[in-house]
Amino acid sequence: MQELIREARRLRADFPLLSQRHPSGHTLVYLDNAASAQKPKVVIDTFGRIFSTCYANIHRGIHWMSQDTTRLYEEARVTVAEFIGAASEAEIVFVRGATEGINLIAQGLRRILFQPGDEVVVTQAEHHANIVPWHLVAQEVPIRLRPVPLTPEGGLDLNQLRSALSAKTRLIAITAMSNVLGTEMPVAEVARLARQQGIPILVDACQAVVHHPIDVQKWDIDFLVFSGHKLYGPTGIGVVYMRAPWGEKLPPYQGGGDMIRQVTWEASVFAPPPAKFEAGTPPIVEAIALAEAIRYLGRRVGWDFIQTYEAYLTEYAEACLHSVEGLQLYGTARPKGAIWSFNIADIHAHDIGTLLDSAGIAVRVGHHCAQPLMEALGVPATVRASLAFYNLPEEIDRLVHTLQRASAFFAPAY
Ligand code: PMP
Repeated sequence: MQELIREARRLRADFPLLSQRHPSGHTLVYLDNAASAQKPKVVIDTFGRIFSTCYANIHRGIHWMSQDTTRLYEEARVTVAEFIGAASEAEIVFVRGATEGINLIAQGLRRILFQPGDEVVVTQAEHHANIVPWHLVAQEVPIRLRPVPLTPEGGLDLNQLRSALSAKTRLIAITAMSNVLGTEMPVAEVARLARQQGIPILVDACQAVVHHPIDVQKWDIDFLVFSGHKLYGPTGIGVVYMRAPWGEKLPPYQGGGDMIRQVTWEASVFAPPPAKFEAGTPPIVEAIALAEAIRYLGRRVGWDFIQTYEAYLTEYAEACLHSVEGLQLYGTARPKGAIWSFNIADIHAHDIGTLLDSAGIAVRVGHHCAQPLMEALGVPATVRASLAFYNLPEEIDRLVHTLQRASAFFAPAY
């Protein structure tokens, strides 16, 4: 274990921000990784390197800088395809983030798939990014969301999911890992059910992609989305995987330059996927920097380390959190990623968040963009601590120590 901790310490040095101090002078403890992760220097430096040495708009330029930037952008697509096990880079569409990705898919399916009365089966644990786009579809074509309740431990019961499927189910759209509870959903099993019944499946991998390798072909899924900024990459870049031939079938989400084969005053003929879905100047350097983040994870960090070390941190954190009097943990189902949501007695989550912040500890408090899940849990808000491979056991100690103080200070009635 000591060797793993030493390795985490070494990797931590790759992240300049982690050596910053809280304005109060406390050393920073960053436990808000599920909202957005910090960036390694190689990702940060990509922006400076490209913008100051070789940068131009892509695809249409004849000069060397445009050609070179185009090459890096398209190589980034290959890197992403390999990272998630896609059969071809043509199945990878760059978007601004997972939210835009789900909207792209939802609006495309609205035009080619949904009929009034159709249902989209989701879990009770979905982020608003996998709820609101379907409500927007419903304003045009009256479809309904069919949420599958979670088990009391926060897991997904396949029998419950099976009984939610019907002749009206047109799509299954599930998160692979809850951003509130950390629960990992049984994606492969759900995909098998979907396949047996001829239902397409979309997976929101925003959280899962950070904690373990993903193989879209092994999962046997139709669509997958994730955001770069949670994966140690920049903001403004996200990924949609759409298995062929969905890219041919879906209409474009937006129109403009770069996504066409021919334009006349009367009509446009679209380019083949993925260009068809990337209208206008894309987030060029962001895509290249995302590929840099993926290479950093693969070559410098490695999944073996991430999985072994995060499993250790998870067990350690959970044991420590149990020592806080009055702490209620939400979501104990296994397998589980390094995310904990909790409340302490009836202390408001925001009070705990403020106290933690004053001690230099960054967590997230609130509904975590999952209001229907909060309603199911019967709370307006939780405190959420989420870890990355650069976090250390002593940071968990500081979190727990401060929570113990909060528990004693706000709820002396024990
Ligand atoms: N899905 C999940 C599970 C998430 O955690 C998030 C981000 N909190 C999103 C979707 C949306 O991601 P973004 O805001 O980067 O589009």
